[in-house]
Amino acid sequence: MSTIDVARSSTPLDVERIRRDFPILDQEVHGRPLVYLDSAASSQKPDAVIEAVDRYYRHDHANVHRGVHALSTRATDAYEEARQLVAGHIGAASASEVVFVRGTTEAINLVASSWGPAAVEEGDEILLTRMEHHSNLVPWQLLAERTGARLRFVDVTPEGELALDDYERLLGPRTRLVGVTHVSNTLGVVNPVARITELAHDAGALCLVDGAQGAPHLPLDVGELGCDFYALSGHKMCGPTGIGVLWGRAEILAGMPPYQGGGEMIASVELERSTWAEVPHKFEAGTPHISGAVGLGAAIRYLDGIGMERIRAHERELTAYALGRLDEVERVHVYGPREGRAGVISFQYGDIHAHDLATILDRRGIAIRAGHHCNQPLMEHLGVSATARASFYLYNTREEVDALVDGLLFASDLFGGVGEPPRD
Ligand code: PMP
Repeated sequence: MSTIDVARSSTPLDVERIRRDFPILDQEVHGRPLVYLDSAASSQKPDAVIEAVDRYYRHDHANVHRGVHALSTRATDAYEEARQLVAGHIGAASASEVVFVRGTTEAINLVASSWGPAAVEEGDEILLTRMEHHSNLVPWQLLAERTGARLRFVDVTPEGELALDDYERLLGPRTRLVGVTHVSNTLGVVNPVARITELAHDAGALCLVDGAQGAPHLPLDVGELGCDFYALSGHKMCGPTGIGVLWGRAEILAGMPPYQGGGEMIASVELERSTWAEVPHKFEAGTPHISGAVGLGAAIRYLDGIGMERIRAHERELTAYALGRLDEVERVHVYGPREGRAGVISFQYGDIHAHDLATILDRRGIAIRAGHHCNQPLMEHLGVSATARASFYLYNTREEVDALVDGLLFASDLFGGVGEPPRD
């Protein structure tokens, strides 16, 4: 890194300038300026991404990999360039380790459906955690049903962190895979996935990281993490919906059977049998989401242009500010640890149901999420059926956090004060 780069990497974000890159943010909702605090569900898109997709369809679109004509060559180059951009961004050893899929959910299903039945037998174990999103839970339940494997779970401490001691207790000779979320979409906690990978490898198991909430917010190097699979969703990191990535270690991907069959994924086809293309194409049956990949490539250029370290620093600062402001409001209960978290804050406000709170805030132009966040087993552990959740990204400001807090006080006035949070 040059001295200029070092200085730049520590320069705070010019958030007002960044906000101008996101046209959707400049609007009123119910007569008030939009305050978008729902990026953990899906992030907004900068002009750079919208324009890249627009340009692609206006100038370059054709099907990829099959044509010799100019447009097909351009579309193929754009699609494969996006793969290179992803590979560079996540520290992959080669672009062929980057498989384009619909998103995190499909990435995990790919591993569970392809690697799973070949590697897992009756009595084998898959070790997950109690804080996994349904996307990193249900595919393994399906695999367990299919193979007779057993699912085991690392617990969550009262502070909202993984009970790391459980790994020592639960990892064993039957463990085939450890699945863990990089960042919890409810608790906000950043899990020590490099350490967890080490523990998994010591036990002879592979490690899959659900990066849906990690990749958008953290500098990422899959080589440093040491994991075997990393799944991410483009739409949570400024890219389009319907495009995501499964990164897998080359030798593991090469040994896995295809996930789906069809065009694009074959080397040759006879009536009765076929041979497969090399990775990553073996896993990309059918016409892919070309414009999605182009948009994701543009998103990665945009994020890298700003710098993931700076984005992380901004979100840390904003989250600390938000936790401080929420502390000032009586009867707000925040879930998850104080430290070591990303910009996701789940909370309960007295006895106001999370859905009522989200509806009241929406009338003030504030978008937060309420519900189980596809974390039903974690909700059960927390003793609630739903939480309110505010989540931040590079374009959020302290003023928006203040608007959230004002909105809570307004809700309290509306109800004539708030009672104690319900205990289920
Ligand atoms: N894992 C986590 C931790 C998530 O937050 C999400 C999205 N809410 C997913 C997986 C699923 O992502 P997608 O719907 O983009 O496949």
